[in-house]
Amino acid sequence: NRKAARAAAVELLDQVGLPDPAGTARAYPHQLSGGQRQRVVLALALANDPALLVCDEPTTALDVTVQALVLDLIVRGVLDRAAAMLFITHDLAVVATACERVLVMYGGRIVEAGPTRQVFTRPRHRYTQGLLGASDLAVVDERGRLATIPGSVPAAGRFPAGCVFRNRCEHATEQCRVRPDWTVTGEDSGFACYHPAPATTARAEGIDD
Ligand code: SF4
Repeated sequence: NRKAARAAAVELLDQVGLPDPAGTARAYPHQLSGGQRQRVVLALALANDPALLVCDEPTTALDVTVQALVLDLIVRGVLDRAAAMLFITHDLAVVATACERVLVMYGGRIVEAGPTRQVFTRPRHRYTQGLLGASDLAVVDERGRLATIPGSVPAAGRFPAGCVFRNRCEHATEQCRVRPDWTVTGEDSGFACYHPAPATTARAEGIDD
């Protein structure tokens, strides 16, 4: 009934850390800040105890402090319910913080997969390597600029045949005109690349356990 639904809503708003859950339950969206609205959405998403929570760029519009708070709430909310979480994001710091396993996609294809620590410290696919290199503050040019991946992402439907990363890859050869097979590197990991980075090459910057 309505009374039970309202009580449940207030309890959920309390669980996601909103300071005045009863007041928030009566508020209009424009009366809440961006971070508060994000927490309301998280409460909505958790309301039916989902087995899987799909989060598509859930913290992108938030400032770093609020982002860390919301991220922590999401992870805790998921852990409390013994649920699984699929995070879709371009933010590598968020992946390192929140995810156990990562799938790297380019041009609509999974190009590398594995445990987060392994992929972040020993990327094999050349796109993963470029992506991580472009966020590595330890590797900047003489003007202090981060490394970049050459070229730009083709428009949808204009990706090259064979390896989708071929027209931006410094390691591309004739062989790459044919789509590479998936190379299995472990129970839960692998990549699709003809000329991968050596397995022994570890990035200097690691991530916390
Ligand atoms: S398959 Fe070839 S083009 Fe694709 S990432 Fe590997 S080396 Fe580069």
